Amino acid sequence: MIFPTPGGPAFGPRDDNAIKPKISRRTVRAVLELGRPYIGTLSFFLFLVVLQTATSVVNPLVFRRLIDRGVVVGDEKEVIRMALLAAALSLADTGLMFVHRYLAVKVGQDIVLDLRRKVFVHVQRMSLGFFNRTRTGALVTRLNTDISGAGSAFSNVLTAAVGNVLTVVFILSAMFALSWRLTLAALVVMPIYMVAAGIIGRQLRELTRAAFDRTSEMNHLMVERFNVSGATVMKIFGRADEESTIFGRLAQRVRDINVHSANVGRPLYAGGSLLVGLGVIIVYGWGGVLTVRGSMEIGTLVALVGYLYRVYGPLLSLSNLQVDVLTTLVSFERVFEVLALKPTITDRPGAVPVPAGPVRIEFDHVGFRYPTATEVSLASLESVAVLSQHPERDVLHDVSFVAEPGQLVALVGPSGAGKSTLAQLIARLYDVQAGSVRMNGVDLRDATQDSIQGVVGMVMQDAHLFHDTLRANLLYAKPGASDAELLAALRDAQILPTVEALPQGIDTMVGERGHRLSGGERARVSIARLLLKAPAVVVLDEATAHLDSESERAIQQAFQTALAGRTSLVIAHRLSTVQHADQILVLDQGRIVERGRHEELLRAGKLYAQLCRTQFSVPAGPHEIEARAPSVRAG
Ligand code: ATP
Repeated sequence: MIFPTPGGPAFGPRDDNAIKPKISRRTVRAVLELGRPYIGTLSFFLFLVVLQTATSVVNPLVFRRLIDRGVVVGDEKEVIRMALLAAALSLADTGLMFVHRYLAVKVGQDIVLDLRRKVFVHVQRMSLGFFNRTRTGALVTRLNTDISGAGSAFSNVLTAAVGNVLTVVFILSAMFALSWRLTLAALVVMPIYMVAAGIIGRQLRELTRAAFDRTSEMNHLMVERFNVSGATVMKIFGRADEESTIFGRLAQRVRDINVHSANVGRPLYAGGSLLVGLGVIIVYGWGGVLTVRGSMEIGTLVALVGYLYRVYGPLLSLSNLQVDVLTTLVSFERVFEVLALKPTITDRPGAVPVPAGPVRIEFDHVGFRYPTATEVSLASLESVAVLSQHPERDVLHDVSFVAEPGQLVALVGPSGAGKSTLAQLIARLYDVQAGSVRMNGVDLRDATQDSIQGVVGMVMQDAHLFHDTLRANLLYAKPGASDAELLAALRDAQILPTVEALPQGIDTMVGERGHRLSGGERARVSIARLLLKAPAVVVLDEATAHLDSESERAIQQAFQTALAGRTSLVIAHRLSTVQHADQILVLDQGRIVERGRHEELLRAGKLYAQLCRTQFSVPAGPHEIEARAPSVRAG
């Protein structure tokens, strides 16, 4: 098991990490697991690092020989030989470093790719409840900033960790061999620095996490305000100035934390330079005295100083390594906590497909409430410290009905009665808590999701079209459909003349959420998409708002084509639909309060009759109704 499970000590629904950062062993294991496919490249990388470190360590020894065996004894040839050798070693050093750094970046980016794919696939599998709760900006930040941060930090840490450990080991061995006393003296202050680095590192780790959270808040604001719907609301209410102020405040918070992080880290770097200076003074001072007394050769003194310059950098980086590793792990952890969220709707072991052919839908004493935050979400993605524990109330109670194959069932009821909720249960966008929903006798929880998606077609109120061409939007329903099929679907959906009149016809781009089309046109395009899919079950929301009068008839016809011969459930807003329905279910506060056909329900004079008056303009009295209903047209 690669990723930690929710509810475990590391990640729970409550985002403890947002309050008290703590890196778990599971995270470390999961990161190592990510590197496993690249073990070959990593081994080669290691080999190159060893080679490069060895070449760089030999250099000061070459200079030592150049001075002691060349300069001091006046051997010109030895000086030139050693100078050439030093030049060759420097070249090799640079070349090797170039290659191994490339490899580190490559592996880092490969891991970014793997992780991005994995998170995308995982998020797609999450139930609708997750998307309802998650702030899109926060999710995009996870997929984008956190993952790339984790990847590049992985490369840096890899290079720093392996390269520096080896350099330090090699150089310290050489230094101790040259003079263990001077080496100890030069490094005596190092432990103090390392303790300080540990303390500052912890602060930096917390700051990094906070910086990510603040960036994600800022991103969320942009994503929400800059999509078409958000921008429209912003403009209609003339709130641009206020929005700018809010954004400015969020951006300032990001700036403040970044400045703070830089300030917290600065003493560490300043202290590092001071330490190098002190070390060099000690070696030159004490080593100089030893050389004057004749107990040390001058070449050895120069080599020691050369080593000192080379070892301090890696030593300081190693004390910072803890900081780097921890901040990298923060990024990984933020990605892993998304991966650790279990999708609530999955295929059961042994799940079966919904039997093919015409479909019979059965709701059997269904009770339903929307999932709570703790069931489907993550505090940090909702941008709250602790998820709401508030239980959701039941939205559907004891709902039972049967839609026989090919039947049209109309759903009516006041706003908030639960019509859309019931419609969504047919596509298993949520699982029921009581009773069951069955198709051809198979409980949807026992059916494969693929087969349900294949059987059910939905056109909901705000039909979404992707920011792409009409063709691409249609092909989404049936990849590989021929042009003839696309045109036939558009014709049957009564939208072909409109599409043909567009400058680029079917290859016209439709803006984000299809905004360059009118609401009625968009509804018909989504019906064309449904026709291409040709599902056995159609769930349709007859939106009232989008229907301009001239396309009313066209839409009516399109709906009729879409429903013909299919088991259909329609959230009805039209008189003609309820008149033709084989069965009308009247929902009120999550319960079916009346059921039957149009005339009998009208005659009963209860909620349905009342709704007909308000929604379909059918007059009040039963006599009038009987007299007029057949001639009344939707409108
Ligand atoms: P309308 O005709 O206004 O579209 P409806 O009959 O389709 O209404 P639903 O959208 O099914 O009603 O909503 C039924 C109840 O469920 C409402 O009280 C609503 O607040 C609640 N509800 C809807 N969606 C969610 C959700 N994602 N999470 C929690 N509660 C929800």
